[in-house]
Amino acid sequence: MKKISLVVPCYNEQEVIEIFYAEISKVKREFKNVVFEIIFVNDGSKDNTLNLMRKLSKNKDVRYLSFSRNFGKEAAMYAGLEASTGDYVAIMDADLQDPPFLLKEMYDILETGEYDSVATRRVSRKGEPIIRSFFARMYYKLINKISKTEIVDGARDFRLMTRQMVNSVLSLKEYNRFSKGIFSWVGYRTKWLEYENVERVAGTTKWSFFKLFLYSLESIVAFSTVPLSIASVMGILFCFIAFILIILIIVRTLVYGDPTSGWPSTVCIMFFIGGIQLLCLGIMGQYLSKTYLEVKKRPIYIVAETEKDTKDVK
Ligand code: UDP
Ligand code: MG
Repeated sequence: MKKISLVVPCYNEQEVIEIFYAEISKVKREFKNVVFEIIFVNDGSKDNTLNLMRKLSKNKDVRYLSFSRNFGKEAAMYAGLEASTGDYVAIMDADLQDPPFLLKEMYDILETGEYDSVATRRVSRKGEPIIRSFFARMYYKLINKISKTEIVDGARDFRLMTRQMVNSVLSLKEYNRFSKGIFSWVGYRTKWLEYENVERVAGTTKWSFFKLFLYSLESIVAFSTVPLSIASVMGILFCFIAFILIILIIVRTLVYGDPTSGWPSTVCIMFFIGGIQLLCLGIMGQYLSKTYLEVKKRPIYIVAETEKDTKDVK
């Protein structure tokens, strides 16, 4: 008997959580000699999600963890992986954007023993705002240029992993988590499955453009130190320019005398250099703040309630 754990982060998913469970129950029938463990992680939902989880946990294949507040999807995934006990573990969104029918194929591939993980990427972004797709593409181009860890364009967090790989992922205990990078960083043999983008069955996306933008900055800080060298490169460049200008001015003064002029250009240059300095300081600040959060060693999440609590009550 093999055991598959499904980790499902949920934040305000009251519209979809029951549909999700029904779909999984359908898919389960295709498996032979496999038991399932579905771990819902309630990431501080403000709607009825937790109550639905309590209800679903009456089924013996359902477990849940409920956070004391919203800690973000990364924390929810980490908590779910930590709680999982299966031989294989998959992370899935609650909104069915990660097609459950792929699970069987993923499982069969891992059973051959040739791979340690089967990951998914969507080849299209249909149904997504155009500006969002555009910035997403730009982001993937940039991060892959400046980071040694490969971040695959369109990669989903949906993947089935062996216990060994899950343990490796869990051994990275950093506070600022970026799973797409972490999965790639730990290595192992990964098979990629591709599929067309699926729109969520109900409810709305939990990621605003601004939230995604901040997440992308975090991932850059987490997986690249190239921005830190911007200051040095610009410093060298500016010294070089200044050196040439000094020579030019000395020559000009020797040839034409020294008429006082050109203060507007001086002001422009001051603003420009001042701006660059603030930018570099800001970049340093980003890394410093992340370092600050890491050294505090705060827990990644806090659990307020699990399925054990409801089972005790009964
Ligand atoms: N999610 C979460 N915590 C958050 C935001 C999202 O656990 O702070 C979950 C959400 O419930 C869903 C998954 O992460 O199961 C993906 O979120 P969503 O579908 O809103 O993102 P999108 O698919 O639009 O990128
Ligand atoms: Mg979604």
